[in-house]
Amino acid sequence: MNQFIELTEKYSPNNYSPLNIVLTEGKGAHVKDSDGNTYIDCVSGFSVLNQGHSHPKIVQAFLDQSQKITMTSRALYSDNLGVWEEKICKLANKNKVLPMNTGTEAVETAIKVATKWGQDIKGVNADDAEIIAMEGNFHGRTIGSLSLSSNEAYKKGFGVLAGNIKYSEFGNVEQIASLITPQTTAIIMEPIQGEGGVNIPPKHFIKDVKALCEEHEILLIADEIQVGLGRTGKMFAMEWEEVEPDMYLLGKALGGGLYPISAVVANDDIMQVLTPGTHGSTFGGNPLACAVSIASLDVLIDESLPERSEQLGEKLLKGLQKIDSSIIKEVRGRGLFIGIELNENAQSIVSSINEQGILCKETQGNIIRLAPPLVIEEDDIDTIINVITQTIEEK
Ligand code: PLP
Repeated sequence: MNQFIELTEKYSPNNYSPLNIVLTEGKGAHVKDSDGNTYIDCVSGFSVLNQGHSHPKIVQAFLDQSQKITMTSRALYSDNLGVWEEKICKLANKNKVLPMNTGTEAVETAIKVATKWGQDIKGVNADDAEIIAMEGNFHGRTIGSLSLSSNEAYKKGFGVLAGNIKYSEFGNVEQIASLITPQTTAIIMEPIQGEGGVNIPPKHFIKDVKALCEEHEILLIADEIQVGLGRTGKMFAMEWEEVEPDMYLLGKALGGGLYPISAVVANDDIMQVLTPGTHGSTFGGNPLACAVSIASLDVLIDESLPERSEQLGEKLLKGLQKIDSSIIKEVRGRGLFIGIELNENAQSIVSSINEQGILCKETQGNIIRLAPPLVIEEDDIDTIINVITQTIEEK
């Protein structure tokens, strides 16, 4: 066995099942393994690397800031937190943003803010506040975000979880309507489900949910941690339905693959429920995170990466939809976020695709998820189409 895998397995708990590939270098959409093999990366650290591996402008921002100051904590001000905040608020058309570090922390924050908003503004006793989540969602693995999961296997054995959570089928607005009570404070959803299998809801679904939220004074929380920041061909996946949620949750590509940073973005009528001491994070919004994130957002905008994702994603989707094979159930996607759903377990096909120099993984057992860096070149899209077509058609 590869020495790096052996060492890692020796000291790692058994909570992951990685591919047997040891990555040692990455540049743009390409990575190299410890045996010198090269790959086109269609995993992208689960949609973290929208700007590509080690984007020079983001690396430079990291280096420059690391020689100035990296940490202040929120006991003091820094000279770039406000700059980052303004940038992200303007992008999301909101006026407050709360920085955290990982995706799951943004979700935890949203649960806290929505519950307190329910109590302070809507008048719902915080202990009774209800949140409606979607079946098949993925919002993270810590206690609050895990509580939102409809997957019993994820939750089993972890004791008492948070909140009063109700579940609706994703895409079924009538079911959501039937779950609403006077205690409902928030509806949380991924505009397109990622871990769930690149699930795209029916047209108008999100618009109809937004209308329900307005009618019943409920917050609509969009978890764009995986599908936001250009991944689906728009800066925010909510734009596909022209809906502005009450809260955006961002993470992953917000740190350009160099540094973890996440955010909850909303207006002051919601964020006002937080007062000193009610929420925070030692590392949240530190100067190094902000410098990296400012550069990461600049790269997304300056290089028109959402538009690039839309164009190249369309090419990739159309190419893959031409595959002629009875094992394909459906090929679906938006931008460079594509799921190939098979009628059988995807493991052997994934291994074969990996061996031919394209990194991808399956989700839910039978869905191959493709999420290459948005900086990927058109030639690489052709290679992906050819390799996957050949592999599946020859099966
Ligand atoms: N929300 C969504 C939609 C995600 O896809 C993920 C991670 O895959 C998370 C939240 C959790 O993010 P993190 O792993 O950074 O905690």
